[in-house]
Amino acid sequence: MKKILAIIACLLFANICHAQDNFFQRLKNVFVVHDTVYIYVNDSIGEEEAELPDGDGEDDEEGVAEQTSGIAVPIDTLDTQDIFCKVVLFDNGTWLYYHIDTDFIPYAMLSDHWTAEKVHSYNDIAVKDLPDSVQLILVDSLHRYCIPHPGQITSRYKYRWKRAHKGIDIGLHTGDAIYAAFDGIVRAALPANLTGGYGNVLVIRHPNGLETYYGHLTRFIVKSGDIVKAGELIGYGGSTGRSTGPHLHFETRYMGQAFDPERIFDFDRGTLREETFMLKKHYFSINSHYGQTDQQSLNASKKKPSSSGGGSPKYYTVKKGDTLAKIAKRNGTTVKKLCQLNGLKSNAVLSVGKRIRVK
Ligand SMILES: [Zn+2]
Repeated sequence: MKKILAIIACLLFANICHAQDNFFQRLKNVFVVHDTVYIYVNDSIGEEEAELPDGDGEDDEEGVAEQTSGIAVPIDTLDTQDIFCKVVLFDNGTWLYYHIDTDFIPYAMLSDHWTAEKVHSYNDIAVKDLPDSVQLILVDSLHRYCIPHPGQITSRYKYRWKRAHKGIDIGLHTGDAIYAAFDGIVRAALPANLTGGYGNVLVIRHPNGLETYYGHLTRFIVKSGDIVKAGELIGYGGSTGRSTGPHLHFETRYMGQAFDPERIFDFDRGTLREETFMLKKHYFSINSHYGQTDQQSLNASKKKPSSSGGGSPKYYTVKKGDTLAKIAKRNGTTVKKLCQLNGLKSNAVLSVGKRIRVK
């Protein structure tokens, strides 16, 4: 235990002394220089520069010993204050800083279509302009995931109430904690009066190009430009905006286009489905959802939203003198359809006051 405390104390001290130069400088580059690049994590320890491998030294912030990988086995990673810097612990008690390489994802991810003032930021990009498929690395050995709120799904990604519900709803109590799904940068933290139905909403942009939306929050504790880690508390759930009760409205989007978040997360189990996700263009249809085969999704994506069988059912209360034929005519349907919807025979006697479904 003493040893662990010594390591942690040393890490904190060394972190302050050492990390600042490299990482804050590098962070600065990430945000300021337009042709620079963003995050890439390489799991191969051997290829990383070892900066303070001797974890036993107490104030050994200058000590640079020989690289020990190849002998020592990495057993765990620790976060530091800097999202771009982790500490890798080895089984022989040594450790080293693991700097997240910034040579992989274009800075364009952080500058293109970046707006803190609006919920959506890719309004000029149409689905047809997107690639047929794109492979997204969701997690790796240093980047984790987190279910934004553990709870029951109360509404899914689908066409409902004559509008596309482009996310899922997770039931909660007002004030419940909401967590960032992946590492990323808060693009927008907008109050309900600026967002229409979303209420108080947070949008986080992730290094792989994904964006996650967190709607109806009661309040948030991050702001645009903040770097967040997967699992970091970002706000509290509520019922702001177009909402009939406290819940989290959670969306996953790529280049502004929403797809079923259940393709990424198994919300019932609280797990990620795959570490790498192949996002296909037809997923962007509101009729395409998790659980379909590729062909089913493709077929569904070609349908108009209103023909999906969604939408709310419509009822009619039988009045004196009504017949199925009259009701059918009045509601633009057929006797056959009415019989199907209500399990009736075509010669059924209708009692006044009975509610029958007409759509
Ligand atoms: Zn919703």
